[in-house]
Amino acid sequence: MNSSTHIKVLDKYFQPYISAEKIDQVVTQLAKAITQDHANDRPLFIAVLNGAFIFASDFLKKIPFDCEISFIKTKSYEGTSSTGEVLELIGLDEDIKGRTVIILEDIVDTGLTIKKLLHTLQQKEPKVLKIATLLFKPDAIQHQFPIHYIGLEIPPKFVLGYGLDYNGLGRNYPELYQLVQ
Ligand code: 5GP
Repeated sequence: MNSSTHIKVLDKYFQPYISAEKIDQVVTQLAKAITQDHANDRPLFIAVLNGAFIFASDFLKKIPFDCEISFIKTKSYEGTSSTGEVLELIGLDEDIKGRTVIILEDIVDTGLTIKKLLHTLQQKEPKVLKIATLLFKPDAIQHQFPIHYIGLEIPPKFVLGYGLDYNGLGRNYPELYQLVQ
């Protein structure tokens, strides 16, 4: 690997992909769109850990109206429901019944994680349940559901940085990198 801008994380090389400045613009646009739609709703943002923690932090600082934020981890298990699409939500203390809830996700790839999350949260009867994702891979999606706010559409290649990891490493980079194949 010749380029000095490439980084090595464990056994893989990554090249610079989306700059911190561009990410900031995208997060600002997302915050503006959600402000237009929900400034009077006192929404509860639910950020999905671990990947969304940096996005959620930057996003929330750009929200100029009353809102709350909660952080959850999800854990899949074999449910007793007929669909089997059950997720255990770790950390959601709020009662979301009748509330406007907006999920903050770092990336939607196949869509399986968000689909299960929507299913589980819907049963708690929020008034409005929406998704805001920083990154979306339209060519990788395998599950259909509306994604209300999309920061950037990207090709189905593995990315790292800005909260996203490779085997636990790389979350600390302020910009996004793409796997070199
Ligand atoms: P999905 O359920 O949509 O297939 O995948 C969602 C999860 O897979 C994301 O929350 C993220 O943790 C992980 N993921 C998907 N694509 C990428 C990627 O390009 N880079 C990293 N670091 N994680 C990814």
